[in-house]
Amino acid sequence: MNQNIYLDNAATTRTRQEVVDAMLPYFTEYYGNPSSVYEFASPSKQAVAKAREIIAGTIGAKPQEIYFTGGGSESDNWALKATADAYKAKGNHIITSKIEHHAILHTCQYLEHHGFEVTYLDVDEYGMVKLEELRAAIRPTTILISIMFANNEIGTIQPVKEIGQIAKEHGILFHADAVQAYGHLPIQVDELNIDMMSASGHKINGPKGIGFLYIRTGVKIRSFIHGGAQERKRRAGTENVPGIVGLGRAAELAAATLKQRAAYESGLRDYLIGRVMEEIPYTRLNGHPANRLPNNANFAFRFIEGESLLIMLDGKGICGSSGSACTSGSLDPSHVLLAIGLPHEIAHGSLRLTLSEENTKEELDYVVESMKAIVERLRNMSPLYEDFMKHNR
Ligand SMILES: *Cc1c(COP(=O)(O)O)cnc(C)c1O
Repeated sequence: MNQNIYLDNAATTRTRQEVVDAMLPYFTEYYGNPSSVYEFASPSKQAVAKAREIIAGTIGAKPQEIYFTGGGSESDNWALKATADAYKAKGNHIITSKIEHHAILHTCQYLEHHGFEVTYLDVDEYGMVKLEELRAAIRPTTILISIMFANNEIGTIQPVKEIGQIAKEHGILFHADAVQAYGHLPIQVDELNIDMMSASGHKINGPKGIGFLYIRTGVKIRSFIHGGAQERKRRAGTENVPGIVGLGRAAELAAATLKQRAAYESGLRDYLIGRVMEEIPYTRLNGHPANRLPNNANFAFRFIEGESLLIMLDGKGICGSSGSACTSGSLDPSHVLLAIGLPHEIAHGSLRLTLSEENTKEELDYVVESMKAIVERLRNMSPLYEDFMKHNR
């Protein structure tokens, strides 16, 4: 079997051909530095302005509230570190959740080493932040609430509007890591009371290494990269013009196709979930049954290792992702799966499949048939399973 069925769109996505086409002239033809004064530089300057306008339009922001960055991780680092610095006279307390991306969690740990206090909120079994716990965690010294819009592993969508409302009532800034949500869910920053928001190009069929941070007018924020006067003196460095053009085009296409893509992908997702839950016994759906990203499915299969499943799926030409932090070489189960209360051995048997509009029902049929065979084979090699079957016959 030599087919490649790509079901890891939460890790990264294919860059659309239209996006690449839009970018190319800015490498070879319009390569002027946007900061230069001569006429030759004006196409690149204009292209950056246009991308900023397009992106602002997709979230109901003003163009001057969009700051280009080197991606989602940089946006997250910037939002947290710069807010901590700018508001430290007001307080030193930050609230986040236990299921954030490492770009948030590791930045919070860094800030803890520098005198800040961080509350990591628990989530329920579906991965939802509990609003009463959020309210209870607020202190007079709380300066920032940073909660992700939607989770990258289990797909759960947070009650963002309510969180924004609580932050607003208490005069606390609200940052949302929307890297998985932007371009996939409708987002209007005013309606949701979002003060800062991170997004990334390569999660929306755009290029890698480019993203943006939305910063509401009036939020005090320090520069993150010091140097030249780019990005209203807040993020120095010659603009990644092709990347910015690509991000703008990807954002435009994502907004234009959002509704039909979400409908198509959630239909496929529900078909996949339905078949897996029905046809593979001792399986759990991780994440919220309804409030989840249109393209996310995450399963825990008892008695097997997600890593083995992943490798055998790879042998069938299927790309997925497991519930372990395997990228770092460790086999610890993911912090997200532990936070929703999965015991280690069940978390270890987890598999994430994230779809795109390019996937088809026929592909998913092949994936389900492959999974059924592989899960059965792995279980038949498992002493735990043998033991379980003996006692549950
Ligand atoms: C991918 C991801 C990031 C990091 O974005 P990069 O552009 O890869 O740095 C941050 N947060 C979430 C939720 C993500 O899924």
